[in-house]
Amino acid sequence: MDFGLTEEQRMIVETTRAFVENELYPHEAEVERTGHLRMDLIRELQAKAIEAGLYAANMPEEVGGAGLDTLSWLLYERELGRANYALHWTCVARPSNILLAGSAEQREKYLFPCIRGEKWDCLAMTEPGAGSDLRGMTASAKREGGDWVLNGTKHFISHADLADFVIVFMASGEEDTPRGKKKLITAFFVDKGTPGFTVRDGYRNVSHRGYTNSVLEFDNCRLPDAAVLGEVHKGFEVANTWLGATRLQVASTCLGRADRALQHAISYAAERKQFGQQIGKFQGISFKLADMAMELKAAELLTREAAWKFDQGSVTEADMSMAKLKATEVLAMIADEAIQIHGGMGLMDELPLERIWRDARVERIWEGTSEIQRHIISRELLRAVGG
Ligand SMILES: Cc1cc2nc3c(=O)[nH]c(=O)nc-3n(C[C@H](O)[C@H](O)[C@H](O)COP(=O)(O)OP(=O)(O)OC[C@H]3O[C@@H](n4cnc5c(N)ncnc54)[C@H](O)[C@@H]3O)c2cc1C
Repeated sequence: MDFGLTEEQRMIVETTRAFVENELYPHEAEVERTGHLRMDLIRELQAKAIEAGLYAANMPEEVGGAGLDTLSWLLYERELGRANYALHWTCVARPSNILLAGSAEQREKYLFPCIRGEKWDCLAMTEPGAGSDLRGMTASAKREGGDWVLNGTKHFISHADLADFVIVFMASGEEDTPRGKKKLITAFFVDKGTPGFTVRDGYRNVSHRGYTNSVLEFDNCRLPDAAVLGEVHKGFEVANTWLGATRLQVASTCLGRADRALQHAISYAAERKQFGQQIGKFQGISFKLADMAMELKAAELLTREAAWKFDQGSVTEADMSMAKLKATEVLAMIADEAIQIHGGMGLMDELPLERIWRDARVERIWEGTSEIQRHIISRELLRAVGG
């Protein structure tokens, strides 16, 4: 494993960082204060991101993306992750790679418009009664007169207000297993405007202002067979095949924000004087900086190793869980310590720190909570010895 970056990777980092600093940072204060991302601003920044070759760069080259290896993609994510989430997620979109699992017609209808910046996707699994335990979902898809009829509620669905369609996972049947009955899940494409499908405002959220979540309601929403993504009853299989790397994406965006907070803390520790000297000269502060830098490096290495193994075809669920768990917990620690180093100023919204601290909170919850990541890691350890 080579720890250095290639010339191309260095260029990806520089180009993405320049875009984030020059085009996204100037709009952060507005989004933070209003909690809203203006459509005219989205369109302006989206056009610039497309022009810079940064839009949908997560996608393979043959469908119009940048065709990056996993580490290069994650370096790009790390840079984007420095900025306000709503800004980078909406204006420099990375369409879900589950769209690659679609049929030729589905690719024409959903994947390519997302890559061109003409449509946005969103993905709905979570329900009020089924979060970590997704197999417990009750929203259902039943066969009726040659169609599928969807009923039920999904909540916490990110970006659904802006999205043009949703990929929704529904309980479509049950099978008998040695451990009892198991729900079968099917994934469907549902367009906004389909009769029986409603998107309602979700909850106000402490993290990621401007990045909304919605409640989706399905009330006898009728879909043809052509709306099924992947195979009937194999929704989790298609999700597992295509969504594995999203935990690494969360890890990388967290690393970018953690680095931004650390750089603020280092600069402030060198500038701010109390008791006649730089506060960075006090061991109480300098040791914090040392721990922050060391933990960030540990999280970076876990993520990079997982990325490298991903491309070798040897990555395990535990590798990706470790990267997500460590990066999200390190971000929380660094955000908190960066505020401590800034004293009262750290809490004021002149600096991005209070925001990074708030934003850090959701990262230990979505894409699998920290407890679920620990469960995945320990399960792999125990299975190896027959546990
Ligand atoms: C802002 C936001 C945006 C989101 N966006 C989306 C989206 O776009 N699409 C989507 O489908 N979902 C989305 N989610 C849902 C997210 O993935 C869930 O919140 C997450 O999976 C946890 O589910 P839950 O909130 O229902 O918590 P629960 O599953 O009810 O968990 C509650 C607590 O119990 C713990 N717990 C649960 N099971 C175990 C266990 N076996 N062992 C130990 N501890 C356990 C959890 O770790 C947690 O601490 C979003 C959530 C948020 C907050």
